[in-house]
Formats: sequence, structure tokens, C-alpha cells
Amino acid sequence: MGRTDSFDAAEIRRLRTELSWTQARLGLVIRVHRSTVSRWECARQIPSAKHRSSLASLRAAVKSLPPKPDKMVSARVQERTEILARLNGRRVVASVSGGKDSAAMSLYLQELGIEHDRVFLDTGWEHPDTYEYLRGELAAKLGPITWVRAERQMEELIRHKGMFPSRVIRFCTQMLKVQPMAKHLGALIDSGVDCVNAVGVRAAESAARAKLAPWEWQEAFDCEVWRPLLRWSEEEVIAIHRRHDLRPNPLYLAGALRVGCWPCIFARKSEIRLVAETDPRRIVQLKVLENEVAMAAQQRADRAGRELKNEPTWFQNPTSSRTPDGRHDGSCWPIERVVEWSRSAPRGPLRSKDEFLFAAQLDGCMRWGLCDTGAQDQEASA
Ligand code: SF4
Repeated sequence: MGRTDSFDAAEIRRLRTELSWTQARLGLVIRVHRSTVSRWECARQIPSAKHRSSLASLRAAVKSLPPKPDKMVSARVQERTEILARLNGRRVVASVSGGKDSAAMSLYLQELGIEHDRVFLDTGWEHPDTYEYLRGELAAKLGPITWVRAERQMEELIRHKGMFPSRVIRFCTQMLKVQPMAKHLGALIDSGVDCVNAVGVRAAESAARAKLAPWEWQEAFDCEVWRPLLRWSEEEVIAIHRRHDLRPNPLYLAGALRVGCWPCIFARKSEIRLVAETDPRRIVQLKVLENEVAMAAQQRADRAGRELKNEPTWFQNPTSSRTPDGRHDGSCWPIERVVEWSRSAPRGPLRSKDEFLFAAQLDGCMRWGLCDTGAQDQEASA
């Protein structure tokens, strides 16, 4: 609330004009006669402390009102003008993931009348509903979406490398997302098209994302990254879906917190439970992969003449098992044990730790809107 003693005649008149009220109406609301309001506005009398307080409350209420439609239109025009000036003729290549934020971003660009290419980086490891949504409803609303794929997708890549991506060696992001996107943008740039990569990252999703700038040079892509939704709330994302009559990816309705790799190596407990309950075939696929990668790891160890200490697993958060000398032995749970854990109720002081046991400590792919880990304190994308 503003200072209660700061009302002069002009300010009272301005407040009344903003409300589009007559002097009589303002008098009625703050319980004075119309002629008193008139005297205030002519500087022939000053409001008492009690009335200044009422006027201050009104002023605070006016400030919290949404802008009038005409103001919104002119704000939008100004916004568009500023963005077009910043783009300066560069082509906008928007990363679309099948998630709500990137869809909202593309709709927002549509509303601004900013032409953009839509690119989906296909890891080959998404939920079938995401693929269907991208091909059907999303493409119908946003326009054609270009699918960009690496030479080897998730499963093939893991088999080829004989190892799983991990927090330390996150080759999934690098090889399935960063490199294909860099190649796609590089081809455009080489053909003489100057590009900007737009990503649907929102600051409200984490403290780390809140530190991001709306525009930033991205060395790996040799172009600028633009985050048009950085200051958006989730309500605004939902509202723009409603305005365009676009339903969100059905995975959200099934309980997914985010859309992306199914599951991501950084999935949360509830997400692992969702995969296990709705898609048991994926769990079997992971079990098969774990066996194959374990065999490859064993062969590598045999060739090197060393002992294989721990079998590789999709989720690589160390358990609390210890060696005889009391050190963590570095073992991780295989997928079946992880699924079992995901079905357990959170307990005692470990409750929050449990919930975020698999949360990522990330940078890189989160920063550029390539992977949506949904973790509380990392950067992510849509
Ligand atoms: S979403 Fe997760 S599993 Fe998929 S590429 Fe990104 S970090 Fe890797």
C-alpha cells in the first residue's frame, strides 16, 4: 500500500479517472459527500487521515487490477515490436518436446505473429502417447513439426556403448539432443540462415532457472538462445492452451510431472511408479538392457583383467551398501528393486530424500531446454 499522506488533488482526480467513477460514486465508497470529493480535487480541502487511508486502499486495488484490454493490446504490440527488433530478421527455431511449456511457447509466437520452425528432438525413448500427440493434435495446432534424430537412438546407443548414461557421463543429452540440434541449426546457418533457438524454459520452475537470462549466446549451437516464457507462470501456460483449445499431452492427465524420456535417468520416485504401473513393458525393456549392458561390462572387465565390482543399472544412485571396511561400495539398485522402492510409502526423515533420490544435479541439457528433468533445483526445459 502507498503512503496514506501522499494524496494531493491531482492524485485523487487521477485515481477516480482510472476507476471511471463519478465524484458521487467515489464519495459513496469512502463515505463522504460528493461535494467533499469535489473540494479535495480542487485543493480546497485535504482528506483526513481516515480518508487518506481509504484512498490508499483504493489505489492499491487499482494497481492490482489487470490492464484494460486496450492497454493489453498496446502492450502486446510493443512486446512484438521489441522482439522483432531483437530478432532482426533471424529465423526462430523453436524446440518442441510434446510438453506443455514448449507448446505454450509456440502458441505465444503464433499470437505475436512470429513465424517459427518447430523442431522435435526424438531420442527414440519417449512414451508412445507423446509421439501420437506430436504427430496429431500438436502438429494440427502448431503447424508442421520437424523430427530430428541422432544416427543411433537411446537403446541402440546404449547397446553400442555398452553402458548407460549417467550423471557424470550424460551422453544421452549430448548425443541424442545437443549434437542433432547443433547439426540441424548448423545446416541452416551454413545455408545462410541466421537462427535463434527458442526454448520453453520457465523461471518459476526452479531457483537455477530463475537465474537464466531471456537471451543468451549458446556456443554449442553457434547461435543465440531465446527463452520467451522465462517469466511465465504455470497458470499462463494453461491459459494459452485454453485460448487455443489445445489439450495437454495425455501423459500429464495420467499423472506425469513432465514429458520426455520414458523414463529419464533422473526420474523421480512417483514417475518411476507411474512407468511401472502404466507401462510394464518398459520395465521389461530396461531389465533386458541392464542384462545386456552388464554382459558388455563384464567382457570389458575380463579383457582388462580386472574384477567387475558392480553391475551397471539404468538408475545410478548408489545404495547405502558398504564394503567390509565401511566405505560405500558404489552398488546401485537394478530396475526391479527400484520399481519395488517406487511403490513404497515415504517414511520418516528419509521422506524427502526418498522423493528426490533420483533427482539430477544438472546443468547442460537443462540449460538449453533440451531435457526436462523437472527436478526442483535445476534448470530444465519444456
Ligand atoms: S531426458 Fe533424461 S534420459 Fe533423456 S536425454 Fe535428457 S537426461 Fe538423458
